[in-house]
Amino acid sequence: MLTIRNHIGGRFVDALGGTTLPVHAPATGQVYATAPDSDARDVDHAVAAAQAALPGWWALGREGRSDALLRVAARVERGSDRFAQAESQDNGKPVKLAREVDIPRAVANLRFFATAILHQQSEAHLMDEVALNYTDRQPVGVAGCISPWNLPLYLFTWKIAPALAAGCTVVAKPSEVTPLTAHLLAEAWAAEALPPGVLNVVHGLGAKVGAAISAHPGIPAVSFTGGTRTGAEIARTAAPLFKKLSLELGGKNPVVIFDDCDFERMLANTVRSSFRNQGQICLCGSRILVARGLYDRFKEAFVARTRALRVGDPTDAATDLGALVSEAHLEKVLGHVALAREEGGTVLCGGERVRLPGALADGWYMQPTVIEGLGPQCRTNQEEIFGPVVTLQPFADEEEALALANATPYGLAGVVWTRDLQRAHRVARGIQAGIVWVNSWMVRDLRTPFGGTKQSGVGREGGWEALRFFTEAKNVCVRW
Ligand code: NAD
Repeated sequence: MLTIRNHIGGRFVDALGGTTLPVHAPATGQVYATAPDSDARDVDHAVAAAQAALPGWWALGREGRSDALLRVAARVERGSDRFAQAESQDNGKPVKLAREVDIPRAVANLRFFATAILHQQSEAHLMDEVALNYTDRQPVGVAGCISPWNLPLYLFTWKIAPALAAGCTVVAKPSEVTPLTAHLLAEAWAAEALPPGVLNVVHGLGAKVGAAISAHPGIPAVSFTGGTRTGAEIARTAAPLFKKLSLELGGKNPVVIFDDCDFERMLANTVRSSFRNQGQICLCGSRILVARGLYDRFKEAFVARTRALRVGDPTDAATDLGALVSEAHLEKVLGHVALAREEGGTVLCGGERVRLPGALADGWYMQPTVIEGLGPQCRTNQEEIFGPVVTLQPFADEEEALALANATPYGLAGVVWTRDLQRAHRVARGIQAGIVWVNSWMVRDLRTPFGGTKQSGVGREGGWEALRFFTEAKNVCVRW
């Protein structure tokens, strides 16, 4: 049994309350580790350590902070095999996916912000013969970073890297469902003998640790990724304290397929955008909208490809879909399939739990699922499912495609498949979302703004947006 500990003030410690939480391996359904069941007292302790470390970390300067983050990145990269296996064990995703996506991207996040900070410029505004204004961007202070379970290290580093690069110290809370790689990252930090108190990791439940971070007066900025309901809760707590908030929330993303698309390329990508990471990526396209003339051809080919996907042992390189992250989540996703049937939908393939043999018999596996026959307003097409479940809807023309695409309270991402360049621009502009891919999916340039509109969030991450979030701009006006 593995023991995960908090990392506070440079030391690995248990929760002050002395209790722990079980951590499950989704592949087997068995408990394989314990993590601290921390509470507000542990957060207090971490904030005190982070406040004490703040002046020294800022005084290191950009080069010093950059060097520290690059050393951590190199250490994670050297250990990427261990990290990938840990991520798979903790989350249920195929090791292959963690090796190809999660861990390289975590390394890239650290490197990207470690080097971005070296190029940060400050603006100057000259008032001819009157005054010179310059913008002094100072770290906001102790940053609270709260991350979810679907891309554990990938999203954890996406937050802590810009915060640390900008000169903030951090109190971070990974998901209690997937605490392992954040713990390994804290070990990498400690192994590089980096300053204590700069990166503090407090494990535990959202309602205790996450809520304490949102409410703590010593944390002036909170960067959160997770569900929309949790985001609303954090906003309610943080708003009267005038905290800076970055909220990356849920999605119900449309994939809009026109009949002039490159069919084979679209098909391969749509299988990926539907079921990668068991459909548990906020950017997955869960509502597939298809031009009526192409609908039958698409449906037949897509269902055949979906049926051919292999649900299996996450350690097997031939596995396409591993386990869902938890039993509760599996039950929730299966519940959505039952609801779709009640609403009159037809399950074209999948829809059932998968029982694998031997040691994996109690793992949380599910068939990739395709549903048709439901209108845009039914719950299946309105609520985020966040699993391997997609729906198909036909559209008559561009106008109807956009109406369907925008018919949910969410606005995170969208995908458009067409060879008509003008239409691509028109539809990309018309989709209410923070991110649109044309003839592609999940192509990511870390300099670009990342985030959602409507109920998918507030604020943007990525590039300068993130570095700005973790700094306060001060205008200094000097008389001519
Ligand atoms: P969640 O909201 O349940 O939990 C996210 C994090 O918040 C966890 O660390 C959790 O412990 C913590 N938390 C829970 N309650 C809290 C509270 N009251 N106060 C403070 N923190 C609290 O989400 P999840 O189930 O871990 O992740 C899935 C969700 O995340 C989906 O809705 C998905 O769309 C979303 N997501 C969004 C993005 C994005 O970039 N927009 C990326 C990945 C996942």
